Amino acid sequence: MATLDCDVVVVGLGNAAQAAAASAHETGAKVIVLEKAPEKKRGGNTWFSHGAQFRHYHNGIPDVKPLLPHVPESEWEKIDLPPYTKDDFYADIMRVTRGRSVPELAELLVNESYPTVKWMRESGIQWEILYTDAKPESGRFRWHHGSSFIHSKDGGAGLVDMWHRILQSKGIEVRYENGAARLITDEKNAVRGVVVQTPEGLAEVRCKGVVLACGGFQASPALRAQYLGSGWDLAKVRGTKYDTGDGIQMALDIGAQAFGHWSGTHATPIDADAGDYEGGFLDPANRRYRTHRYGWTLGIMVNTEGRRFLDEGEDFHAYTYAKTGGEILKQPGGIAYQIFDEKVKEAVARHLYEGATPIVANSIRELAEKLEIKPDALVQTVEEFNKAVTEDRPFDQIIRDGKCTKGIQPPKSNWAQRIDTAPFVAYAATCGLTFTLGGLKINTRCQVLNRLDRPISGLYAAGELTAGFFYYNYPSGGGLMRGAITGRIAGRNAACL
Ligand SMILES: Cc1cc2nc3c(=O)[nH]c(=O)nc-3n(C[C@H](O)[C@H](O)[C@H](O)COP(=O)(O)OP(=O)(O)OC[C@H]3O[C@@H](n4cnc5c(N)ncnc54)[C@H](O)[C@@H]3O)c2cc1C
Repeated sequence: MATLDCDVVVVGLGNAAQAAAASAHETGAKVIVLEKAPEKKRGGNTWFSHGAQFRHYHNGIPDVKPLLPHVPESEWEKIDLPPYTKDDFYADIMRVTRGRSVPELAELLVNESYPTVKWMRESGIQWEILYTDAKPESGRFRWHHGSSFIHSKDGGAGLVDMWHRILQSKGIEVRYENGAARLITDEKNAVRGVVVQTPEGLAEVRCKGVVLACGGFQASPALRAQYLGSGWDLAKVRGTKYDTGDGIQMALDIGAQAFGHWSGTHATPIDADAGDYEGGFLDPANRRYRTHRYGWTLGIMVNTEGRRFLDEGEDFHAYTYAKTGGEILKQPGGIAYQIFDEKVKEAVARHLYEGATPIVANSIRELAEKLEIKPDALVQTVEEFNKAVTEDRPFDQIIRDGKCTKGIQPPKSNWAQRIDTAPFVAYAATCGLTFTLGGLKINTRCQVLNRLDRPISGLYAAGELTAGFFYYNYPSGGGLMRGAITGRIAGRNAACL
């Protein structure tokens, strides 16, 4: 068996792994990165993060300016950005996770968010302003919520490329088609290396510390059925097919503690025509036609029986999208139809339904026939909904406008408008699984803990396979932020061994 030596092995080549490799190198370690995918498929879910939004705290423009040195003063003068404080961020995490997020981990995510995006900028990651989240108003751009302001240049693929250039400039070795298969431990159960599956057979990489950053188990149908439950084995996966839970399994095999919300997912509404894997794009090879279908808050969503099944206006999609995919999966056939009328056509267009196939009709009955839903059922749903819409305040999609329904179940709590203006449009959506929430227990040094809550010497974890941050749901832009934070910390600490 071929054997290599280094100080730190990083398993994976997504955002968390790349942050870990850069950070370990910065701390003086010789690093080897193992990536299971071939080079042209490198980057994991990170590559698919088309928005590549990073959620971080800030106190308004003075804080975000250093992140965007290329933005001229004349552009800043047109921007209104409210602060997004640490307290706001923490409250958002706790609200969407129903208070279950582990406080120390939620604090880590919040407190390290701004320092980490700053470190990334200093390391060579370029940020851009997320203008799609701003409202143009009389020549100015206004953010009503400061939580969503930056994304990496050229999205997830750009992020992977920029990290890759940083790793190359540091001379860090990346070995493709090298899947970590097993952890090597010594007589005290300290981790001393990794057994690797390569195209030539098994190899060993010996080291002082290992950072596992190789994603959740969302791409394993067997583990999905086992932990998420019936039906999830057939769900479409929005990202890479290589995140099959290997890192979690390897760590459990040497006594790591299984932790977090093992039946929980981040799963969103996506185009019903998306592929089984790489479903984030209808055309992943060319990065064309994003499949996210996040405009449902503007209309209603019904199942194939013509029934509504959730509160479409519970909150902004940034705070509900990650749990809405799972609700669609529970419906017959795992399909839902998002229905809009002409009034919201422009507003829906802002959600970039590119590549989607709209089903258009001049009446609700005709729409039902085209969708193969019983016409009477859909007509009744829309009539009941329309009757329940309150008219005591104006519709405003930019704020939680409180324009709601009264007297129907489920209610619509915001943005309720009658569906009464032809043509009517429906889009078929299904559940798109982004990542799983169960995984490894870590401490704030990103050490993997054993079943006695003690660190396993030499073993660190970062990114999607770390558990305890998110339960039930998730605030948008939290996945990449968690990956960069935990990667940076894990890499630095693994290098200090
Ligand atoms: C369509 C889509 C859009 C998204 N948009 C956003 C967004 O805007 N903002 C946000 O914060 N999050 C977003 N996310 C979530 C985000 O992509 C993930 O949370 C994040 O990229 C996870 O990073 P990671 O490094 O932990 O894992 P990944 O990026 O998935 O990297 C894991 C890597 O490990 C490799 N690997 C797996 N097994 C092995 C093994 N045995 N040996 C070696 N290598 C292995 C994989 O090939 C992969 O390269 C989005 C996800 C998708 C799919």
